Amino acid sequence: MTVKKLVAGNWKMNGSIEANDALVRAVVAGLGHAAPGGRAEAAVCVPAPYLAQVQALCRGTDLALGSQDVSVHAQGAYTGEVSSGMLREFGVRYAIVGHSERRQYHAETDAQVADKAKAALAQGITPIVCVGETLAEREAGRTEEVVKRQLAAVIHVNGHCISEIVVAYEPVWAIGTGKTATPEQAQQVHAVLRAQLKAATDHSDRVRILYGGSMNAANAASLLAQPDIDGGLIGGASLKAPDFLQIITAAAQAQA
Ligand code: PEP
Repeated sequence: MTVKKLVAGNWKMNGSIEANDALVRAVVAGLGHAAPGGRAEAAVCVPAPYLAQVQALCRGTDLALGSQDVSVHAQGAYTGEVSSGMLREFGVRYAIVGHSERRQYHAETDAQVADKAKAALAQGITPIVCVGETLAEREAGRTEEVVKRQLAAVIHVNGHCISEIVVAYEPVWAIGTGKTATPEQAQQVHAVLRAQLKAATDHSDRVRILYGGSMNAANAASLLAQPDIDGGLIGGASLKAPDFLQIITAAAQAQA
């Protein structure tokens, strides 16, 4: 089974009403040319206050809307949190969970990330589960162990619907640094994750494993040509429409 490649932009804490308007309009205008016939899927994961704005801009287009986080709770006294039910009301299709910036700055644990994935799935939102090793972990030869531990927690909690998730391999040392994993380094880890998914579900070939970490217009094609790289999670380059569209073009062209 060949899955459609997915290119998801992670705006992080960037944007303004004016800038979002120009960016999304430009992406939407170029999408038909970048991925003719919808040969690749594209999404933007935006800061929560802009969900309504971007939902309106995406309405009736092929650009999907995503969030950058989701609460494990459904409702109640959790100041500052946003539930998956709320996200659903804004047409959110994807929710990033376990981004390394949240693991690092908000001390999110593997167990919390797994619960966030569960909360998203409960509302029909596809979690984009981020896993990845730090530079120190890579240098200590612990890459496989770390990403497998992170994914195992999500499989443990979401076993029966694990084929509904998207995984993003994001080596922490490559995020926002301009240092990209080589296609071979990335493929090696993606193959490990694929094997882990295969052991967990008969439908592992349905699960898209994205690469994230300084993916850009210049390096996207070689990364996306790898057999187990099913798309990209794009930070910096998703803030510039021409760059983001070039990555979507590379994904459409790499589509088997
Ligand atoms: C990210 O934030 O998920 C990311 C991959 O960022 P960048 O593309 O800027 O490295």
